[in-house]
Amino acid sequence: MKLSRLEYARPASVAEAIELLQGTEGAKIIAGGQSLIPVLAFRLAAPPLLVDIGKLDDLRGTETTPAGTRLGARVRWCEIERDAALRRAQPLLAAMTDHVAHYQVRNRGTVGGSLAHADPAAEMPGVAVACEAIMHVAGPAGSRDVRSEDFFEGPLQTVLAEDELLVGLTLPPWPPGRRWAFEEFALRRGDFALAGVAVHYGRDAEGRMHDVRVGAIGAGETPLRLRAVEAELEGRKIGETLISSAAKLAAASVDPMNDLHADAEYRRALVATLFERAMLRAEHRQEEGENGPAVHP
Ligand SMILES: Cc1cc2nc3c(=O)[nH]c(=O)nc-3n(C[C@H](O)[C@H](O)[C@H](O)COP(=O)(O)OP(=O)(O)OC[C@H]3O[C@@H](n4cnc5c(N)ncnc54)[C@H](O)[C@@H]3O)c2cc1C
Repeated sequence: MKLSRLEYARPASVAEAIELLQGTEGAKIIAGGQSLIPVLAFRLAAPPLLVDIGKLDDLRGTETTPAGTRLGARVRWCEIERDAALRRAQPLLAAMTDHVAHYQVRNRGTVGGSLAHADPAAEMPGVAVACEAIMHVAGPAGSRDVRSEDFFEGPLQTVLAEDELLVGLTLPPWPPGRRWAFEEFALRRGDFALAGVAVHYGRDAEGRMHDVRVGAIGAGETPLRLRAVEAELEGRKIGETLISSAAKLAAASVDPMNDLHADAEYRRALVATLFERAMLRAEHRQEEGENGPAVHP
């Protein structure tokens, strides 16, 4: 189907973008268009105005400092793929990016578009929650920071107001020696995942895990942080029995939806299996240097 009639604007600054959003009720931001254009083509939305943020250079680029890694909302998946320093600085981000969509979509799709679209099965929101990222938002009242766990309100719903835009996000610094893995299952490579699991943790000299973080996608109405599983693992030495009991807990902690691709019980079982795979991959990862290599799945 063709899009319904709409106006188009390409502002030169964040302030101008916010003014345009304020000036027209129902106006929508467009970044890479990889999620929005299909929505418009199916006439699931008919905004009167598209505000194209393609000229806003403030929303581009990545920077890693001791305080963490800041990613602009307009950073595209292909840029993360090609940035060796970024992949070393944030290995879980790198591992996740390799699962997002197809080559063509990765060339245009942005980090900010994925976060604002808030598909419960999207990879980036899951990693943001599992890493305790902070979202940077700009609006008529100024700027505000939102914890990633508070950012997602439901399927395709975030705390962003109609006249706010996501400027970027900050991932906390990645401590040396951390173990990590991102595992997902999709029917075809590049499709949205039916479910996915992110894990990362540190290990002390005796092999006990600390600061364990576990996230899941496709397993509820928003990306989930599995705190009960984290608590089960914290301070313990990894082993087959522990992974198996924690996997059962992971399955019990999620609340997946039924849809035409998979029912809730299948997704719940997937979470358990993907959690086990993620723990094994994280544990057996060959370390190179401080953080280990960026591993392609
Ligand atoms: C074939 C195909 C396969 C795909 N597979 C995957 C997949 O496996 N995993 C996955 O996560 N995604 C997948 N996607 C979806 C898409 O690639 C990503 O979600 C992409 O990152 C969206 O970014 P975008 O810049 O194209 O967003 P757009 O389509 O431009 O925008 C998406 C939504 O976010 C809003 N928005 C965009 N930027 C901002 C901002 N800075 N501030 C506020 N609101 C904003 C828009 O108004 C819109 O509502 C797939 C898409 C296609 C077409």
